[in-house]
Amino acid sequence: MKKIQMVDLNGQYEGIKDEVNNSISEVLDSSAFINGPQVHAFQKELEEYLNVKHVIPCANGTDALQICMMGLGLKPGDEVITADFTFAATVEVIALLNLTPVLVDVEPDTFNIDIDAIEKAITPKTKAIVPVHLFGQCANMDAIMELAEKHSLYVIEDNAQAIGATHTFKNGQKQKAGTIGHVASTSFFPSKNLGCYGDGGAIFTNDDDLAHTIRGMVNHGMYKRYHHDVIGVNSRLDSIQAAVLRAKLPNLDTYNSKRREAARRYSKAFEGQEHIMVPKTVNGCDGICDTCDCHVFHQYTLRILNEKRDGLAQHLNDNGVPCGVYYPIPLHKQKAYMDERYNEADFPVTNQLIKEVISLPMHTELDDDQIQFITNLVIDFLNH
Ligand SMILES: *Cc1c(COP(=O)(O)O)cnc(C)c1O
Repeated sequence: MKKIQMVDLNGQYEGIKDEVNNSISEVLDSSAFINGPQVHAFQKELEEYLNVKHVIPCANGTDALQICMMGLGLKPGDEVITADFTFAATVEVIALLNLTPVLVDVEPDTFNIDIDAIEKAITPKTKAIVPVHLFGQCANMDAIMELAEKHSLYVIEDNAQAIGATHTFKNGQKQKAGTIGHVASTSFFPSKNLGCYGDGGAIFTNDDDLAHTIRGMVNHGMYKRYHHDVIGVNSRLDSIQAAVLRAKLPNLDTYNSKRREAARRYSKAFEGQEHIMVPKTVNGCDGICDTCDCHVFHQYTLRILNEKRDGLAQHLNDNGVPCGVYYPIPLHKQKAYMDERYNEADFPVTNQLIKEVISLPMHTELDDDQIQFITNLVIDFLNH
């Protein structure tokens, strides 16, 4: 059996080596390392794939989030609501811009931001909601867009983990993750579902004016060379990364369906296990079917219900199976983001999840033997 990895970037590269190498060679031959033709071509290809009017590439997913908030003109003191259970980048940029982060609890089965908790947290100072499509599945965008409309709030989708996922609205209409809110960010960090070979990110929006504002902001606030109209940043996707992404984008749907296939195998093996809660998918189907791309499984995350999560992680590691705990600390308990406004009673779900979650190896190259080996280890350990 091939060595099991959390993410197998090398195995994936083997399958697209020629495309990637040729694409990178073109950049080397052209010497157009910044804003070369590959960046523009990738932008167009991603706009088409997502069916969104504007993709603005930038340097990484954290910058993308920050620039979304700058582009919307959020001001110090404005409150921005986001999930307590996610990667810190989301709350970090809110705090960096001197906006006021308002962390709220998540749902116990999808791990996504809880709608009632958002509603409870809205005040006259609230300006935006940042749903994070955690682990590859959209937050409840029907309810979030309704709340946003009712209270005149912006919605910034943090789509770093769900590129290629589709959200199906209650009325049956389908839209790609990251094209539903006013603006969205994504990351092309190597281990993300669409990863480059370094850092990269992008912003998506259907709003022409906002897209124009943001295009200047990513480049020092310049709309005309050496005329700085607004305060911007230097945040660019370099041409080599765009070249890699161009070679990978045509494979994204296949990659995501391989992830779904691995998830389906995992969940099937864990059926009937009383100590395991498998990830829930929305949309009515089991979400892991072939025709539905509601979940793209950036992570396959279990809840271990018999307090043996840490023991299980150790057992997996001892047997050569990597695993991860995403996330071990709720953001409201992180030193940088603690605040006396928070009340422990408002975070029953995240406080529980951090003790129970474990993410198993998930990538495009997992084979049946590997999955069987992993699921057998998990089941044996939890039942003894
Ligand atoms: C990875 C990630 C980011 C940050 O992306 P970088 O490209 O690493 O800056 C932001 N939010 C979430 C939810 C992420 O998973």
